Amino acid sequence: MGFEGLTLLGGRLCLDFCNTAAYRATAQEQEFLKGGYADLLDWCIYAGTLSEPESTRLKGQAQDHPAQAQQTFRDALKRRATLYSLFHHLAQAEAIPPEFLQELNAAQQHAMSRRQLIRQPDGTFTWTWLPCTALSDVLDPIVASASELLVEGDLSRVRQCPGCGWLFYDSSRNRSRTWCDMQFCGNRAKARRHLAKIRTQTTPSANTGPGKA
Ligand SMILES: [Zn+2]
Repeated sequence: MGFEGLTLLGGRLCLDFCNTAAYRATAQEQEFLKGGYADLLDWCIYAGTLSEPESTRLKGQAQDHPAQAQQTFRDALKRRATLYSLFHHLAQAEAIPPEFLQELNAAQQHAMSRRQLIRQPDGTFTWTWLPCTALSDVLDPIVASASELLVEGDLSRVRQCPGCGWLFYDSSRNRSRTWCDMQFCGNRAKARRHLAKIRTQTTPSANTGPGKA
């Protein structure tokens, strides 16, 4: 599937991965990874962590081992749920359940085993990834992104949109970013407030009792 409408605005790969679902635990809940393992690969291409040839190779591997691909996809959604809960707790300045860290540590050890230092033409060093062998290896860059954010990021900048629940890293100078996107959630909230104001002005007694919007 395509990911039109799924803007990568989290500012960190791990947060963008969490944002493949929105409006969690509400009637408007949105899921962008519906198509199984192939969808996960397409998202990785979309997010820039996987090349087309590598994705094609992994898709072939998944077709040869469908049960394994299904399990990997379920594990990916579970990993996403853990990362979401972790950063949601941080954004709300709440305590982190220790099992989240245990799970992340185990995943992080695997991710590190696939990282390699290389020297670039300008003489500087950088990390690169060994080619994926297991289907689940595509999750490694996401895990690495989460570890880097936890260790090197300013955690007070991890925020959550009060509209759709998307997570983002607020890199604005005055830490003033509230919404995932002002054009989207910000304006919708503004419109709701405006509508509520009109309603209270025109029907002064209608805003009490059950059923109010
Ligand atoms: Zn939002």
